[in-house]
Amino acid sequence: MKRYDLIVVGAGPSGIFLCYEFMKRKPDSKVLLIDQGRRVEKRVCPVSSGGKCVKCKPFCHITNGFSGAGAFSDGKLSLYDHEDEEIRVGGSVQEYLGVEYTKELIDYTDGIYLDFGADTRLEGVSDTETINAYKERARKYGVDLISIPIRHLGTEKSHELYKAMQDELERLGVDILMETVVEDLMVKDGVVTGVYVHSAVIDTFKETYYGDKVAIAVGRKGAKWLSEMCAKHSIKNRSGVVDIGIRYELPDHIMAEVNKAMYEAKFVARPKPYEDKVRTFCQNPSGFVSAEVYDGGLILVNGHSYKEKKSNNTNLAILCSHHFSYPFDQPLLYGRNIAKNSNLLANGQVLVQRLGDILSGHRTHEYWLNKNSVVPTLQTAVAGDVTQALGYRTMTNILEFIRMVDNVVPGFASSDNLLYSPEIKFYSNEIIIDSNFETSVKGLYSIGDGGGLTRGLMQASISGVHLARVLAKDIAL
Ligand SMILES: Cc1cc2nc3c(=O)[nH]c(=O)nc-3n(C[C@H](O)[C@H](O)[C@H](O)COP(=O)(O)OP(=O)(O)OC[C@H]3O[C@@H](n4cnc5c(N)ncnc54)[C@H](O)[C@@H]3O)c2cc1C
Repeated sequence: MKRYDLIVVGAGPSGIFLCYEFMKRKPDSKVLLIDQGRRVEKRVCPVSSGGKCVKCKPFCHITNGFSGAGAFSDGKLSLYDHEDEEIRVGGSVQEYLGVEYTKELIDYTDGIYLDFGADTRLEGVSDTETINAYKERARKYGVDLISIPIRHLGTEKSHELYKAMQDELERLGVDILMETVVEDLMVKDGVVTGVYVHSAVIDTFKETYYGDKVAIAVGRKGAKWLSEMCAKHSIKNRSGVVDIGIRYELPDHIMAEVNKAMYEAKFVARPKPYEDKVRTFCQNPSGFVSAEVYDGGLILVNGHSYKEKKSNNTNLAILCSHHFSYPFDQPLLYGRNIAKNSNLLANGQVLVQRLGDILSGHRTHEYWLNKNSVVPTLQTAVAGDVTQALGYRTMTNILEFIRMVDNVVPGFASSDNLLYSPEIKFYSNEIIIDSNFETSVKGLYSIGDGGGLTRGLMQASISGVHLARVLAKDIAL
């Protein structure tokens, strides 16, 4: 019988930082880290080497494997504004742990990233005069501009950094089990006792691992699985949100001043008539639009940028959060159906349309896309009609938002700018946890993006560090 003190499901940043911090505090512990994807050095996306998305089997390399969705991410670590009494970016850890302690966790975790080779340079801190002028102008047009210090790893450096962490976890004695799917949790009388797994590559391999504590760190990729676990094992949760929108690509020269002063500017507004919250997210100066495959082969759009390899375009997400009320409470299903329609319209690929074509009421044709001044960095995207995929309310929110931001950044609404669909951020139903991140099932914890606690690398990482501190006190070895 294989027994562990701690089993961690998911080797994304939250799971990695949990294992690392826990082993530093309790070096003699038996810890098992399981992930359905591959080791970080074996993760290769065919699109990044010039090919097209072939829907890698059994799992997409962009979102699965050691370092989770962090491996191919742009690696922008969102820190915080020292002057601000709130934390506005990356998730809701501060709502459980308070702002001061969360800031301390961010400083501490940032230190670990630096120890493993992150760039010491911070973006968005030097030119406060330009930043303040932009904030002032944004306010005038009903747009909120959030600018915080960013530590930019870059996609290729993220790989190196997480490889160093993978080596270190093995040196510390963590058992890392890759290409292994956690199929089910073992729960008895409201207490977790282990996990059932099967191999992602060898048909016959099935195993049971017993654990005193189990941490779920499955990211957005595991949202569907987590929702199923909640239903099966009565893990308390509440209906969550789904963020639906597009990836927007425009020339660097339009964004030049913003990129230089802030690297990532977060614009937030409530466009009329719905007054829903609409925001920009994950801005990538001189970056590349990318595709990622989700459950059931759905293709979603994302974006990233490298430290050295550069394009002439900036890309960013424009997202609207969708909350539903009685009688509908299935945000995941709603998002999946939007993605399915968008994929259908693009023959199983990402859809792209010029803003000018949307505003003049017709689809984009490949012929005109080839002549467009903004050259798509996702070359496999299929020219078509994004408005046929997204709902009226989402589309109205996005177009009105683009118009509002154009007042702040002239050229933001230029006709040749591109909208890619679908950009969707799936979260499972929000898992109900306490300030130790323990769920309603005893010994079962939820961290990172999967249960809706976080929405970015830094907050996912600190959620792991906090849980390690909690468990290190709790587990008597
Ligand atoms: C292209 C891209 C760019 C991004 N850029 C940024 C950025 O610049 N800055 C930022 O802050 N955030 C960025 N993000 C988001 C960031 O990567 C995530 O917020 C972060 O990785 C979440 O960490 P996590 O540990 O919660 O989960 P994840 O990193 O998603 O890891 C979860 C892991 O769990 C595994 N898993 C799921 N279910 C199971 C199961 N049943 N059995 C076994 N394993 C399972 C998956 O294989 C995966 O490896 C980006 C994301 C993408 C996709």
